[in-house]
Order: sequence, then structure tokens, then C-alpha cells
Amino acid sequence: MTYDPNYETVIGLEVHAQMVTRSKIFCGCSTTFGAEPNQQVCPVCAAFPGVLPVLNSELVSMAIKTGLAIQGSIRTRSEFARKNYFYPDLPAGYQISQFELPIIEHGQLHIVTDDGVRKRIGITRIHMEVDAGKSVHEGIQGASWIDLNRTGTPLLEIVSEPDLRSAQEAGEYLKKLRSILRYLQVCDGNMEEGSFRCDANVSVRKLGQTAFGTRTELKNLNSIRNVMRAIEYEAERQIDSLESGGRIVQETRLWDANQNTSRPMRGKEEAHDYRYFPEPDLPPLVIAQERIDTIARQLPELPDAKAERYRNDLGLSEYDAGVLTSSREMAMFFEETVSRGAQPKAAANWISVELLGRLNRGGMEIEQSKVTPEQLGRLLALMQNNEISGKMAKQIFDIMFESGGDPDTIVQEHGFKQVSDTAAIAAIVDQVLADNPLQVQQYREGKTKVMGFLVGQIMKATQGKANPASVNAILQEKLSG
Ligand SMILES: [Zn+2]
Repeated sequence: MTYDPNYETVIGLEVHAQMVTRSKIFCGCSTTFGAEPNQQVCPVCAAFPGVLPVLNSELVSMAIKTGLAIQGSIRTRSEFARKNYFYPDLPAGYQISQFELPIIEHGQLHIVTDDGVRKRIGITRIHMEVDAGKSVHEGIQGASWIDLNRTGTPLLEIVSEPDLRSAQEAGEYLKKLRSILRYLQVCDGNMEEGSFRCDANVSVRKLGQTAFGTRTELKNLNSIRNVMRAIEYEAERQIDSLESGGRIVQETRLWDANQNTSRPMRGKEEAHDYRYFPEPDLPPLVIAQERIDTIARQLPELPDAKAERYRNDLGLSEYDAGVLTSSREMAMFFEETVSRGAQPKAAANWISVELLGRLNRGGMEIEQSKVTPEQLGRLLALMQNNEISGKMAKQIFDIMFESGGDPDTIVQEHGFKQVSDTAAIAAIVDQVLADNPLQVQQYREGKTKVMGFLVGQIMKATQGKANPASVNAILQEKLSG
């Protein structure tokens, strides 16, 4: 299969983000991941006859926060709806969701495309809904286990407009959305554990064509990389099919990451298949404008605003600002480093090159770094004050990265102190000049290249600890005197 430049790919994403509320959406059961099967279940989430749901207020606040962060409009009156379908891990036989009147509509976020262009991606809606349980097919012959721990866990379903045009853009969108949810601390964004899940709607059309092609829905995408691979595969599959005279069937397809292929799972259902109706056990959700205003005032600084501040106030490059705001943890690390006296540009450079370079090579995240922001800030301050050279700083940083430890102790233990005392340096310069009369004479005759040799001798005499700027200045002065 080959990529055909006469076609355009159209992608819309549906993300299910598990909210980190302490209890489930309609009952008091815990939402902690990894408990023994069926230990976090009660009559409400197991859907015993006659039980009644009580809406989790923490979830509503999280939905409002998320809506504000994507500049969506918050409905002060939204409704829950019953979505009817049978599934073994859905004991109620229906899912409580929102349909016609979702809590959030008309939002947006911005991504940077491959060409470096900032692009707006519309977010159609965000609604609250309940998660189903899990069917476990391993460890039993000819049957499946049902684990209801996840039943009743609160989700936000975040539906994008079909504004994405490549796998790359889809990846950027997911990274941005996940980063926003993590900044808000409403979702841990862990795709492997299933707390941030994505389905992709993909269609293709000839360039210049305005109508959308028939779309297929891709499921089972458990990493951003898999989302991107699946979209690429699907776009090529559809183009090949159209080019060979076939047509696209609207269906749901299951991605197989091991085989790098997808296969049909079921015909794509339409909304009417679910026989949605207003949830009779829950009144419409009415939110006071005051509550929305209060939450708006408490919203943290989000990645785009932060990046802009880093560029405008701290003079960082677009690239550095993007890297440092890509996650809340990264931004906190950077800001803490600067608060310890490091110059922002130096801190940005050391974090994005020295620290992230080493972390990436080891397959680690910034949270796993042995070097703390306090220590990095102190190291950079030592360098800025000329107490250590840039070369020493890198050696010290290597030790800090491998074994941890604070820079002052390492400087002492390894004797890394730089000599900036001008009197001490002047004495060494005098000695070196006295020892090398030939070179001094050559210099005075115009062979200024010997300067490098003399600097080398001085650095050798100080075991590399002399401040190079001071050495140069003193040497110049003495040679021209
Ligand atoms: Zn429960």
C-alpha cells in the first residue's frame, strides 16, 4: 500500500477520559485501579432492582473545569439519557450517558502541525457517562470472567470535530488533550490502564471534494502510537479499496497492534439503535452560574498560556516553551529550577538537552529523574557565579544524574571548585610567562596564535579549575604590558 497524494484523510476522535473522582459516578464505591476483581461493587453499581443513582458532585466540577479549559460553553441545564444495549459486563442493560443536552458544547484546542502551523481543532461536545465493567477472557477455558470494579466509574466522552487531516495531527491532538486533563488534575491520562481511551473515525476523499466519504470507526487503540498507526493503515486501506473500484462500508473495525492490521468487528450502529430516552431516575442537572464562575477563577495556568508566558516574559524559544509545557510535571520542574536562581534560558537548555536527553536514552519520565529541580537550580547558580566552569557543571551533572546528590557536596568531594580569585590566577600567569620566554617573545612579534598555547599551560597548571574568562583577561593584560 502506498500513500496517495490525491486523497485527503478526515479524522474525528472520540476520547473516553476516566475522571479521578474518589468514588464512582452514582454510588460511594472506590475507583482505585488494580483491586481484586469485584471488590469495589455495591447494589447500585451492580444494578440491583430498585436502586437509585445519586450523581457525584466532584464529577460535575471536573466536567465544568474541563469545559472551561477547552473554551467550551457550559450548559446550566443538561440532561442524562439512557443508552440501551446488552453487554455481559453492563449489568443494568443500559448505560447512563448524556445525549441531546450534554454538559459542554462548542470547545476547541490548538495543535502545532508538522509545518509548524498552529491549527484550531473544534470539540463538538463533552458529556458525562458511566463506564462498563470488564470481561476477562484469560485464565478460564470456554468462558469469561466478569469484573464489575470498573462499572460505575465516571467518564467524560470528548468528541472532536472532523478537523484532523493526518495521523500526525491526531497524535498532536491527543497529546494536547491529555496534557490539558493532566494540568487540570482530572484524569491521569494513562492509556495502558485504560483511563484515557480513544476511538478514531476515519474517512478519505479526493482533494477538492467537499462531501465527507463513508467513515469507519477504529477501536482498541491503547497508545497514541497505535492510534497513529491505525489511522495510517485505515486511510491506505480505504484509498486502495476506492482506487480498485470498491466502496467503503460503514463499520467498526478492531485494530490489531501485533499484526499491524485491522479487521471488521461489527456494522456501525446509529444513535436510534440505542433507543435513547431521558434517564427517568435522574432529574435534569442544573448548574448555578456562580459555581461555574468560582471554578473559572480557580483554573490553573494551562499549557498554551504558560508557553506564551515563557516566550514573552522569559525569552524562551517557541521550541523550548513547547517542550517545557508539554506536561504539568515538566513545567513544574522548570519553574522550580528557575526559582532556585537559575537563569530561565540556561534552565530551559539544561532541562531539554542534558536532562531530557539522558532520560530519553534510559526510557524514563521526568518524574523518575534522580536530579531534583532544586539541585539543578543550585548547579546552574554555581556556574553562573563562576564558581564552577561549564565543563565541570556537565561532569557534576553526570554524577547527579547517575547517583543523585546535591551539587555542593559533589563539588567538595571531587574538588571541582573553579579558581576565580584574580590574584591567584595572576600569580600562575606570571609563572607560566616566566617559564615560556620564547612564546612570549613570539607573541610580541605578532604570532598571536601562541596565546592558545599559553592558555593551555595555565589551565594545566590549575588542573582546569581556573575561570577561563579571567585567565584570558589577565593574560592579555600581561602580554600587552
Ligand atoms: Zn457501587
